[in-house]
Amino acid sequence: MSENFESVAAIFGKNVFNDVVMRERLPKNVYKEFKKTISEGRFLDVALADTVANAMKDWAIEKGATHFCHWFQPMTGLTAEKHDSFISPTAEGTTIMEFSGKELTQGEPDASSFPSGGLRATFEARGYTAWDCTSPAFIKETGRNITLYIPCAFCSYNAEALDKKTPLLRSMDALNKQATRVLRTLGNNTSQSVGATLGPEQEYFLIDKRFFEKRLDLMLTGRTLFGAATPRGQEMSDHYFGALHERVASFMHDVNVELWKLGVSAKTQHNEVAPAQYELAPVFSTVNVATDHNQLVMETLQKVALRNNLVCLLYEKPFSGVNGSGKHNNWSMVTDDGINLLEPGSTPHDNMVFLVMLCAVLRAVDKYSKLLRASVATAGNDHRLGAHEAPPAIVSVFLGNQLTDIIEQLGEGGAKESKANGHLKLGVSVLPPLPKDCTDRNRTSPFAFTGNKFEFRMVGSAQSTSGPMFVLNTIVADVLGEIAEELEKSTNVKTAAQKILAKISKEHRRVIFNGDNYTEEWAKEAVKRGLLNIKSTVESLKTIMDEENVKLFVNHNVLSKAELKARTEILLDSYSMSINIEARTALNIAQRQILPAAIEYSGKVAKTIESISNAGTDPSAQKKSLVRTCELISELQNSIDELKKAATVASGIDNTVKRAENFRDYVIGAMKEVRKAVDGLEMTVDAKMWPLPTYAEMLFIK
Ligand code: ADP
Ligand code: MG
Repeated sequence: MSENFESVAAIFGKNVFNDVVMRERLPKNVYKEFKKTISEGRFLDVALADTVANAMKDWAIEKGATHFCHWFQPMTGLTAEKHDSFISPTAEGTTIMEFSGKELTQGEPDASSFPSGGLRATFEARGYTAWDCTSPAFIKETGRNITLYIPCAFCSYNAEALDKKTPLLRSMDALNKQATRVLRTLGNNTSQSVGATLGPEQEYFLIDKRFFEKRLDLMLTGRTLFGAATPRGQEMSDHYFGALHERVASFMHDVNVELWKLGVSAKTQHNEVAPAQYELAPVFSTVNVATDHNQLVMETLQKVALRNNLVCLLYEKPFSGVNGSGKHNNWSMVTDDGINLLEPGSTPHDNMVFLVMLCAVLRAVDKYSKLLRASVATAGNDHRLGAHEAPPAIVSVFLGNQLTDIIEQLGEGGAKESKANGHLKLGVSVLPPLPKDCTDRNRTSPFAFTGNKFEFRMVGSAQSTSGPMFVLNTIVADVLGEIAEELEKSTNVKTAAQKILAKISKEHRRVIFNGDNYTEEWAKEAVKRGLLNIKSTVESLKTIMDEENVKLFVNHNVLSKAELKARTEILLDSYSMSINIEARTALNIAQRQILPAAIEYSGKVAKTIESISNAGTDPSAQKKSLVRTCELISELQNSIDELKKAATVASGIDNTVKRAENFRDYVIGAMKEVRKAVDGLEMTVDAKMWPLPTYAEMLFIK
């Protein structure tokens, strides 16, 4: 039977060394000890690791694996892997398959070619990978290659984090510690730990592969640097949630099967707002596993697309004029015994745990808004944030009427009631009255409460969720720490908690905004409230090293000052590099494809004019067209020269901040001028001679 007909239950997690497999294959005492090690967050001892490794190897070999690899997430935001085979030669000239505990738990890849932001001198090449046993190992089939993947953290010879996973794990520890402290003071003596949960909604575009291959800009930069607007865009709102096209539906099916095998619970899929835009959302899991899984989601989307002669574009803004893509991060805190700390219940006003957690998040978001903003600052995301299609760069929180009312009551001497939610009456007798949710959906808010979780909507589609999530975990941990401090020393916890909530309500109410975040009025109102509107990536990244941020990360053991500095350098550098690649690609296309096509076309028109004149007819209409084309050609030539100059100056600057500023202030503008000329020519030159697939072709041909 083909795999398509295997039941989902049979497929799901079949390539994961998960709990069921472990229970089956590990000796009972080893299994128990291993689980205990994970839940207590301890190191794995060597003997235990040997047994686990052996069981893992046998399982992997039965599935056809010949290799294992330490799979990690360097600061590129992508994943990295180095494969080793299980083969071990014997003295008799044969071979046996071996995999030791040491090989499982630790690797030593050469780190010298990964970005380190100056943390590691090039001669100190050694880096270490360490097994993160909280994220299960899995088997990946790539073509005929079958390999055991071991999720790992990655650090330097001096144990400094060089990856995205380490700070995330550290931030989970911090949140666990502080949230548990708060729970204890509020009388919860049963929950042993608190974890952060994440459900990331992944948006992406799909286009036909034959168009992609003709667009150097998409291939090298992830976005179109040129392209006149399509006569039809998204104005009819007919794509969102529209019926899936057959080819796309088949693609989604293949993606689901691949992801289910890897234990990724891909659940929701639909058309998004822009033509050719789609979304996939998994069921949420712990933030660490969800982050690993999101990397697998992005990889699988791209891999399966190719198999279907499609290309998946993950970039934040592949096409101008239609919506870009984000990655909404749904986040909450949950105890080991299953209590969602952001669950309001039916009477939120007297749910003290919920109110404390809610207020902690409010204060954290307001107090550290610059850091949250910086966690989503990338060159790609600059096209989205504040462009009236995604949240603005102003960080605010949507709470909805009921909770906003409660927060106000808290500031005025205590919350006494929760506004009723009521029912929606549809006016059709056969339809039941629908219970109304206590919060509406506010699609324009950067940070929205959505029933029992927050949705951080500023995250870009191509980003790793690690950065935004370790920032969020850490800032909330910090505020929970402050609250625990107060509550632990108080004699009357209830009064003390009410005092804290009243103070937070008064100080941080300004960050609540339930209206339309896309409007000019809000931008003005935000200024009055003292909220920041940091529009560019460079401006935002410059705030990371502020003293309060350094203190925050150091205090909670999430990042040392040197690690934070290194990360900032890497982010700034990667901003400059991506704009530089865009500039060079734009120049390449403009000079080698557009100019020649436009010149050839103008020559053809000139010849036509000559023949028309020779025939004794008036060629003035053709002349008009030629003049316009020639004007555009000269604009293009001038703008190419300007862009060359600007890019050369910017790339020659040594200082990382100044270089990034220069790219932002001069190179981006110069690229826009080239685009203006090219897009003008697209509307003038004969379509048959135009070298690039157009927006209409890419967005509408399925
Ligand atoms: P939307 O209506 O916002 O598009 P989706 O159904 O597409 O919602 O996605 C919502 C995401 O939120 C899913 O990934 C879901 O699993 C996740 N989610 C639900 N509850 C929680 C929670 N407690 N913590 C984290 N994520 C959650
Ligand atoms: Mg959704």
